[in-house]
Amino acid sequence: MQLPRNVIAGPGALESVGPICRSMRLRGRALIVTGAHTKQIAAEAVADSLSANGYESDFFVAESPTMENVLKARAAAEDMKADFLLGVGGGKAIDIAKLASTKLDLYFISVPTAASHDGIASSRASVVEEGKSMSMQAEAPLCVIADTDIILKSPYRLLAAGCGDVISNYTAVLDWRLASRLQNVYISEYAAALSEMTARIILDAAPLIKPGLEASVRHVIKALVSSSVAMSIAGSSAPASGSEHKFAHMLDEIAPKPALHGEQCGVGTILMMYLHGGDWKRIREALTTIGAPTTAKELGIEDKYIVEALMKAHKIRPERYTILGDKDLPYEAALKIAKTTKVID
Ligand SMILES: [Zn+2]
Repeated sequence: MQLPRNVIAGPGALESVGPICRSMRLRGRALIVTGAHTKQIAAEAVADSLSANGYESDFFVAESPTMENVLKARAAAEDMKADFLLGVGGGKAIDIAKLASTKLDLYFISVPTAASHDGIASSRASVVEEGKSMSMQAEAPLCVIADTDIILKSPYRLLAAGCGDVISNYTAVLDWRLASRLQNVYISEYAAALSEMTARIILDAAPLIKPGLEASVRHVIKALVSSSVAMSIAGSSAPASGSEHKFAHMLDEIAPKPALHGEQCGVGTILMMYLHGGDWKRIREALTTIGAPTTAKELGIEDKYIVEALMKAHKIRPERYTILGDKDLPYEAALKIAKTTKVID
């Protein structure tokens, strides 16, 4: 199992980046992977903290999580003879740094500026190659340093999406259990229990998750880290990614303007919970309370793409067996699922 060694979440945590690197006995130079906006709001402060603690650092600025940028980041790290990498951003910069450091066999530190999905702490990264989004195995971060002041200033929509990604653990675990019964897939009970508990904590805390509240950010960060720990224990993303993630990834492929990953996963959880015969209304209520989308309209996606994504979602990662089975859902069935759960009207 690969787990982060340190997880720091709190106001002003950026200032502790340098001291934490020292406490972990890191030496030498650091490459900071970031975006243009996140450089201003966070990465420059990270560089200051590193320099105050005797580290040289340089920036690699990239906006999109493409394989080309991963290779450029690797080249930049090699040019400066970097000894470790940091990803400072909402997710894209973290994914680039995660994959580049894996290729270089160097440590990597995750410094999220938003809490919109569990990739901030996990060993998986998404990259775009030839226009298609791919999930890849990488090294887990050596540590996660989440400055809740910075994350609080990011749009609330991102935090609500992070809750959707956590709540999706419910149906992911149901799918995992189904695959274990039906296909004899290995299931880790520790990972399944941790993943379910994490989703339950966020579901129960839904009324406490609001804009402008530092405690909400802390809550969601802990849940996202717990989800990635569950994946690390399992040695796969199964405890946090099932049929609802297939649905979300299919929307990414077919919808002209997809919504945020966690938003699509949240809506996917409503739909898949209905298919599992579970309490989909409770999922819907919690997402509404949090302020996350529960309908096609709120996602900003036309009804027809929701129905099509439901029909074809099983095609994503076909090796992962879920409630969606291995055949297209009939159009009439998909339409009925989406209407019954009020995702479309
Ligand atoms: Zn996810």
